[in-house]
Amino acid sequence: MKKIAFIGLGNMGGGMAANLVTAGYKVRAFDLSEDALAKAKENGCDTFTTVSEAVAEADAVVTMLPNGKIVKSVYTSEVIGKAPKGALFLDCSTIDVATTREVAELAENAGYMMVDAPVSGGIAAANGGSLTFMVGGTSEAFARAQTVLEPMSKAVIHAGQIGSGQVAKMCNNMLLAIHMIGTCEAMALAKKAGLAPQKFYEISSKSTGYCWSLNDYTPVPGVGATSPADYDYQGGFASALMLKDLGLAIAGAEDSGATVPMGEHALEIYKAFVEAGNGGKDFGAIFTTL
Ligand code: NAD
Repeated sequence: MKKIAFIGLGNMGGGMAANLVTAGYKVRAFDLSEDALAKAKENGCDTFTTVSEAVAEADAVVTMLPNGKIVKSVYTSEVIGKAPKGALFLDCSTIDVATTREVAELAENAGYMMVDAPVSGGIAAANGGSLTFMVGGTSEAFARAQTVLEPMSKAVIHAGQIGSGQVAKMCNNMLLAIHMIGTCEAMALAKKAGLAPQKFYEISSKSTGYCWSLNDYTPVPGVGATSPADYDYQGGFASALMLKDLGLAIAGAEDSGATVPMGEHALEIYKAFVEAGNGGKDFGAIFTTL
């Protein structure tokens, strides 16, 4: 595979496409945003004025788009039937499982192979080529996908059949939201009850309270690991994106009949926080509400 079409060159896709160029691929880029396209050109991508032109002649098509509605519309109107038969489609966007499976079925019926390959890791990992990809699809599709994903990744993991990558992503991020809120509550409680947050960090990060939110992304300014909390909660993982991911998890729970009371509560907490105008702040900023 030599030519890769890349659709969606935003915060994440821009750096990912640049890493494919560095790895020696011919990258055929498209985005609705002219700024994003100009940046992709500077990074060595060939740019096109429509999705259909970008996917023509492509051996593989990577999409990194905002949501399931857009993913479905891009594939059904401008990728399926326009890319060469046999091309591999990799959707790296975070979207709902049902749309993933629906689009993949349409693609397969038209003679393509498709994987869902959502990522863990933010903009820094996208730029640095150190994302974790969780991939759903057949073994054959996964083997082909590995060569495309490798230059953008620190890990590429086969989750199972199509849609399994999105299942892994929604479960991971629901867990992340819950332990972030728990970490913030424990930090606030320690402080109110007379224990310095730094001392609590030193103890709990080596005790059974240890978790990524506490140990590696401490949501309290000046305490523990350096994180967006130390920069007024700028950068990092936006609360609005966490709210989106929690919405996908709750929808997934409803579809599959799972019971997720803590996930539902986490969604309520992030919904209120985002509606209060904090959508752009890092998700650790929940600490400031306690
Ligand atoms: P973004 O909004 O920065 O980028 C999305 C890009 O898609 C934009 O440049 C936009 O112009 C483009 N776009 C929208 N509709 C299009 C269309 N019809 N055709 C072509 N281009 C179109 O978003 P992002 O932060 O890069 O996130 C992309 C995906 O990655 C989302 O699904 C998000 O949930 C997921 N994600 C983001 C992060 C993060 O930290 N930002 C982390 C993990 C996963």
